[in-house]
Amino acid sequence: MPTTGFTTINGVLHADQVPLPAIAAAVGTPAYVYCANTVRDRFRRLDDAFAGVPHHIHFAVKANSNLHMLSLLRALGAGVDIVSGGELFRALEAGFGGRDVVFSGVGKTVAEIEQALRAGVALINVESEAELVAIDHVAGGLGLTAPIAIRVNPEVTVETPHAYIKTGEKGQKFGIPRDDVARLIAMIATLPHVELRGLGMHLGSQISNADPLRDALPRLLAAIAHARAKGHPVTYMDVGGGLSVPYEPNETSADLDDYARLVRAAALETGLTLLLEPGRYLVAESGVLLTEVLYRKHAAGKDFVVTDAGMNDLIRPALYQAYHAIEVVRHTAGALTADVVGPICESGDFFAKARVLPDVQAGALLAIRTAGAYGFTMASNYNSRPRPVEVLVDGERFAVAGAREQFDDLVRLERAPLHWRTA
Ligand SMILES: *Cc1c(COP(=O)(O)O)cnc(C)c1O
Repeated sequence: MPTTGFTTINGVLHADQVPLPAIAAAVGTPAYVYCANTVRDRFRRLDDAFAGVPHHIHFAVKANSNLHMLSLLRALGAGVDIVSGGELFRALEAGFGGRDVVFSGVGKTVAEIEQALRAGVALINVESEAELVAIDHVAGGLGLTAPIAIRVNPEVTVETPHAYIKTGEKGQKFGIPRDDVARLIAMIATLPHVELRGLGMHLGSQISNADPLRDALPRLLAAIAHARAKGHPVTYMDVGGGLSVPYEPNETSADLDDYARLVRAAALETGLTLLLEPGRYLVAESGVLLTEVLYRKHAAGKDFVVTDAGMNDLIRPALYQAYHAIEVVRHTAGALTADVVGPICESGDFFAKARVLPDVQAGALLAIRTAGAYGFTMASNYNSRPRPVEVLVDGERFAVAGAREQFDDLVRLERAPLHWRTA
């Protein structure tokens, strides 16, 4: 069987059977390259881990919202977890129906709630009392009943590589603190246009072990039991996302089997349909950011490798001090310890510090690995840099899945002459 994913064949890094230099020659750099087969593999692993438990996998669109990625996941049988009206728009464009959609997020606007209800989403996850009132009000105005779920903040200790990706601890903005859940359930019973169909949680991202889940599940089950005892038609239990992937060589990730064992047992105990909201797990390892070395530089006793990709293209190292493995695309001899940096005018614009690499020269191609999640979706135009092209690889073929932005795209929305108004 031909290899899938990113492998070295005759000294050249390939995506499935396609050599990465061929992609760089065809579409230029920087370029995000995604392997469809890796996404299929991760989806099946997760789906298989929950065989025998009624479940739906709702891909967290914010991890990678490319329309072709969404279509690929839809073809596999996924639904989506969205956090904005823009993501709902994308999901519908990619062919998902409203019933495939779970709507999460702490700050849904009235317009977004209305958009979601008109689309007939499966669930709106409620994150505050005020939001609950707003949802009831909007649903009433539309003459509908809103299917809602309570996002419980189980207030457990969560270990993640960076504080910014914890969400299920005490004092965070996410979810309903567990002591307030009973009050919210009582309030829902008094509101005419909402129906409590589920309870869920999302503990954070890149969670390294099963401890937080082990602590949180009983708290979620208690909330579910309470809601059912009060007569609410609960059918869903949502355990959120957060499954980790390895970024560093030899890194051990949270064990899918451990995760599945805990969650399966809890879901079977409730008899509810399980909802899973993985983002990173499904797509992170499917992607690389392909970049060309522009210059080598030696300054203050240090070596730098300057690439044509910058923090605007991949912000994770700057934002989360995230580690990304970097591979030289064509076998190169020698060794070098260098900072790999982008061209942007910020000291935070780096991909690696003091990294040991082969002795790469200008013109070499590098693959920044594990960039399929929270890569392109967090890209910006900072320094007026057009965002990179996105390429999908499937076996022996590759195609542009998102065209490279052009300079004109940078100013398109600013071209109209000023139309002054007064209040
Ligand atoms: C971001 C997010 C996810 C996905 O998290 P991953 O770590 O990418 O799996 C799932 N659910 C909610 C509510 C989220 O905000």
